[in-house]
Amino acid sequence: MKKIDGKKVAADLRLELKKKVSELKSKYNAVPGLTVILVGEDAPSKIYVKNKEKSAIEVGINSKIIKYPENLEEKVLLDKIGELNNDKEVSGILVQLPLPKHINKRKVIETIAHEKDVDGFHPMNVGNLSSGHDSSIPCTPLGCSLLLKQTEKNLSGKHAVVIGRSNLNGKPMTQLLLKENCTVTITHSKTKDLKTECLRADIIIAAVGIPKLVKGDWVKKDAIVIDVGINKTESGLVGDVDFDEVSKVAKAITPVPGGVGPMTIACLLSNTVECFKKAQSK
Ligand code: NAD
Repeated sequence: MKKIDGKKVAADLRLELKKKVSELKSKYNAVPGLTVILVGEDAPSKIYVKNKEKSAIEVGINSKIIKYPENLEEKVLLDKIGELNNDKEVSGILVQLPLPKHINKRKVIETIAHEKDVDGFHPMNVGNLSSGHDSSIPCTPLGCSLLLKQTEKNLSGKHAVVIGRSNLNGKPMTQLLLKENCTVTITHSKTKDLKTECLRADIIIAAVGIPKLVKGDWVKKDAIVIDVGINKTESGLVGDVDFDEVSKVAKAITPVPGGVGPMTIACLLSNTVECFKKAQSK
């Protein structure tokens, strides 16, 4: 069994991006800029935003965080996004989710210029991804896809089972697997016999939010298992996959922590660099 080392793959990607940013700086006399907007005091969000900033600085991306209080008026946020949309120094805009309840998340996402949507949540990017056109791709599924390709060069014809159908993970993951010519089954909370579906899979992507849902006897011998889940339990952080059981059966598996998690931020930086490049070549 191979333990897929997301930490190492993410560190390699950051190194590659650092080189790219330095080349872009020489070419354009400018560097990519990422602006992250944080509204309120959500503790995990504060940690994510700090980590994003640290990683952005590491690769040479110009990073800026804008913080607003919980009671922020929606209009102020939308106006700020409008301003950033027109700011040439800003290549990518990310509004950290979740937002306070009084702010319309959809309106916020749709206000971000799709060319600067480094999260890949704008309907234009969602549509382009599902049509097979160039788009920003949501960071976590993009990270999963890179880990998969590191593990298995040719994914064509493999049967992939995606557990979870969120806009953030399951749905874009499905599109990325289709792009690799996988046969994809997407499963969710109403799926009747998840174990049987999983047993047919050459590849399992678990993005559910239920600790250790996927058991050893749900997994075909030599399957590849990517665990997106991050669940806080009394015994620490665990994924959606029972690592101890599944690692005895699978050909390769991502650990939690140290698997998909580190890839998410690295892919955010990659999306920022791509947005910068596209803006320069216009
Ligand atoms: P979500 O709550 O938006 O979606 C969960 C999905 O799981 C839903 O589509 C639901 O239908 C499905 N589901 C629920 N119960 C099920 C069951 N019993 N059987 C099959 N499917 C079931 O969650 P999300 O935002 O997609 O996040 C999923 C997990 O991934 C969470 O643990 C989250 O913390 C984690 N996550 C990790 C990263 C990362 O960087 N590694 C990023 C985002 C989310």
